[in-house]
Amino acid sequence: MSRLGPASAGPTGIRHVIRVRGTVQGVGFRPAVYRAAIASRLGGFVRNDSEGVLVEVEGPPSVVEAFPDAIRRSAPPLARIDAIEVTVTRARGDRDFHVTTSAEAAVVRAMVPTDTATCDACVRELFDPEDRRFRYPFIVCTSCGPRYTIVRDLPYDRARTTMAGFVMCAACREEYEDPTDRRFHAEPVACASCGPRVALVELGGGSGAQRRAEGDEAIVRAAALLRRGAILAVKGIGGYQLAVDARDDAAVRRLRERKRRPHKAFALMARNLAALEGIVELAPAARAALIGPAHPIVLVPKRDAGVAPSVAPRLRELGVLLPTTPLHHLLLAEGPPVLVMTSGNVSDEPIAADDDDALARLGSLADAFLVHDRPIHTRADDSVGRVVAGAIQPVRRARGWAPESVALGFDAPDVLAVGAELKSTVCFTRGGEAFVSQHIGDLGSLEARDFFGEVIARLERLLGVIPIAMAHDLHPDYTSTRWALACGTRTIAVQHHHAHVASCLVENGTRGPAIGIAFDGTGCGPAGDLWGGEVLVFDLERFERIGHLRPIALAGGEAAIREPWRLAVAALLDAGEPLEVGDLGPDARRRQIRALIEKGIASPLATGAGRWFDAVAALVGVRDAISYEGQAAIELEALAGTSEAPPYPFEIEGGTPFEIDLRPAIRAIAADLRRHVPPAAIASRFHSTMAEAVLASCRSARRTHGTDVVALSGGCFQNVLLTEGALRRLDADGFRPLVHRRVPPNDGGVALGQAAIAAHRLVGEAGG
Ligand code: ZN
Ligand code: ZN
Ligand code: FE
Repeated sequence: MSRLGPASAGPTGIRHVIRVRGTVQGVGFRPAVYRAAIASRLGGFVRNDSEGVLVEVEGPPSVVEAFPDAIRRSAPPLARIDAIEVTVTRARGDRDFHVTTSAEAAVVRAMVPTDTATCDACVRELFDPEDRRFRYPFIVCTSCGPRYTIVRDLPYDRARTTMAGFVMCAACREEYEDPTDRRFHAEPVACASCGPRVALVELGGGSGAQRRAEGDEAIVRAAALLRRGAILAVKGIGGYQLAVDARDDAAVRRLRERKRRPHKAFALMARNLAALEGIVELAPAARAALIGPAHPIVLVPKRDAGVAPSVAPRLRELGVLLPTTPLHHLLLAEGPPVLVMTSGNVSDEPIAADDDDALARLGSLADAFLVHDRPIHTRADDSVGRVVAGAIQPVRRARGWAPESVALGFDAPDVLAVGAELKSTVCFTRGGEAFVSQHIGDLGSLEARDFFGEVIARLERLLGVIPIAMAHDLHPDYTSTRWALACGTRTIAVQHHHAHVASCLVENGTRGPAIGIAFDGTGCGPAGDLWGGEVLVFDLERFERIGHLRPIALAGGEAAIREPWRLAVAALLDAGEPLEVGDLGPDARRRQIRALIEKGIASPLATGAGRWFDAVAALVGVRDAISYEGQAAIELEALAGTSEAPPYPFEIEGGTPFEIDLRPAIRAIAADLRRHVPPAAIASRFHSTMAEAVLASCRSARRTHGTDVVALSGGCFQNVLLTEGALRRLDADGFRPLVHRRVPPNDGGVALGQAAIAAHRLVGEAGG
């Protein structure tokens, strides 16, 4: 077996350079490679650099060649390997293996690590009286802790985070430098003697006096205040949250008043899974998401016990999450077992993260502040997900999920897409990847616009990109559109619903052509008309509108969106039904709307699917006026329950584009209302009707265009009943339906679609 001759090989064998790309920094990747190399008795080194992780290994050929597999096998839980590339280099006689510290590079191409909830091992130490970090609220390791929200620059190293100001004590440094320790290069590592500290600031009721407690006393006292019904502002990972005892109805109602949030459901944080199981039902996919590294809020069916009625009035679901930081664990262990945990803001403003800003903005909302001295560099709300067809789908993508990248499937120049107006996000492309920002919110307020600019500036810097073009919506009045047009860079306008369905296509790893069903509220069509119930045949290059829902009149324009009863009147009028059906308020106001519509005054037509849901919600008496976007439709879904009902009639008319005529359904609903059919049954049948309309549209598209891939996107597909109803029908009919799993179906996903379409266009131009 042995080869003769000293010159035939290096003294210890061969040497390979192994480049690992993906989410491999700040997740304990180097120690894992180190342990694997030691176990295989290989020499060489591992280090972070600007492109990810670089490994060089040297030893017997068979062992060196098998090492990429060893890397994959030993990758830590938070790592995501996108690619491993191997090149051969000259052996140097290395017998030892080393972990070396990061090499700086001119162009930073590393991944941005995401924030991760406290891991089980750290929670055990947190509550272990023998542990040196017993009850220390900033305990972390390489598998958990803040990342994106504390990093200022890449590569991810302590000096480039908001932990830079805390000098490690000898004990922490020893763990940090020991490759065999689970805190090896855990950048935010700290302990009570060297790390951040908590404090409780109680605002004096009226007198202006403040009371201050520090350390463990602060947490114990905060928990006691919560048990007495106080509203507590807590500094979480990505910003301040407002907490209140979820069992105390008076306290929850007080929070609603102060936050100016009359109806929208509050999320709940429970001590542990056992505490959650008493108040909600947990399907396997929901449970997996709740305990996964991101710890998002998950919307799950509620039981009829355990929480105050004002937490989520009129809804069948509750948004729940588990403690995300050690501070939350300590607070919930001492205080009430279930807390309302909602973003620290007033109605739709962005979350407060800066301490002074929080005191100024939340001073009138909270009775006390649980603060600490680790700065938050980048704000991020809690993420929200919902189980759709057995897997989690993002509703709001923020802490823990953003800015994880989505592969575009092709290499492109750097592009910035600025998204829509409500549920705003932005998206940068870099090479073949798209990085969608965290949820920014509704761009209506000054604070939100500041946040929008801040997210763009910081993400641009972290990613090290210089966009050569900006993609924006066709809507001329969106804050994002105006911002892009004012930048002086080349701009690319992308139609709203094309962006919606393109985002769904891209995140599913395909490029079309496909059928796109874009059902949302209201978006801008190419001629400035109002779209929102669209059937498209499309790819990343172009789209054809082959069908749409019958338009409905928005009497009073924006007012019709805030007051769904106006849409109910419009729907009845359009269907030739008398306006006395249902409970649509006083005669006078119905006549007024009729006059507006008949004279065509301030009554633009819109094809939005959301508007039809609104109209039916008002018809069956669910809701007259709304206090948050989508409220009527959300409550209509809750009313419908989960059982399948036969659809109402509708018609598909005309050639291209065809119209999905919902008037027969409205007539049938009016007849049902006259016969006093229960509203829940009507709600249920209407959902089936819309799912059936999706199927009929897809059949028509398949006949004319021959494609069977269907992308379901737009805010209406947050509706589980609609989405699952459509999926079931499409599957049974031989279609290949795609739904969102990485970005939300709502306008939070639009930036990804814009980015993909714009990047694809730039590639096309370069190629031709
Ligand atoms: Zn940990
Ligand atoms: Zn320490
Ligand atoms: Fe939309």
